[in-house]
Amino acid sequence: MQLDAADLTALIALCRAEIDLHCEHLSVLDSAIGDGDHGANMRRGLEAVYAEREAIAALPLPAALEKIGLVLVMSIGGAAGPLYGTLLMELGRGLPDAPDAAAFAATLGRAVEAVARRGRSGPGDKTLLDVLYPVQAEVAGRAAPARIAECAQSAARATEMMLARRGRASYLGERSVGHEDPGASSCALLTTTICLYLKEHAAP
Ligand code: ADP
Ligand code: MG
Repeated sequence: MQLDAADLTALIALCRAEIDLHCEHLSVLDSAIGDGDHGANMRRGLEAVYAEREAIAALPLPAALEKIGLVLVMSIGGAAGPLYGTLLMELGRGLPDAPDAAAFAATLGRAVEAVARRGRSGPGDKTLLDVLYPVQAEVAGRAAPARIAECAQSAARATEMMLARRGRASYLGERSVGHEDPGASSCALLTTTICLYLKEHAAP
């Protein structure tokens, strides 16, 4: 996990572009089982991070991730803001300056648990955690980035058949079944973007 300032700047730009491209789709998913704002929320968040990319990329990796988390909490809003914010802030607070794969996996595990505590949710509740848990397991098993990306995408698709037990979608009860969770979808998009960049650019 040796990411320099150029890598961080590139990753921020790629994540922003990916969310921008899928903004409408994320909001369509959220219209089916929520209030239709997830795409706009995520776009606002990634735009805010993008606006601060130079200051963020100048920081050591842990401080950069913590700062991204803070910006996301302040800009995404809704339920997703504090959850994505917690993930990034916990990652940043827990990582050493030059983390190896084991340190990254352990810190990601703790960060995902912090998200679960924050959302009072667990596996199978039809949330972005249904992508984060399997991704974390693949990272812990030292899977290749392409494999982690595939796992994130199939985990997001698997939320379609789940019954929502947290967030706005839970108000729908049985009617939440048959729709992919928007937060799981944005999480898979971001995971895929990051993994494909790491596959091309990170040292093995
Ligand atoms: P809001 O629900 O406030 O409109 P968003 O639409 O931006 O916020 O985000 C909705 C997504 O947030 C859901 O699709 C789900 O993945 C995630 N989410 C909502 N509540 C929770 C929770 N309690 N725990 C984990 N994730 C949640
Ligand atoms: Mg919403």
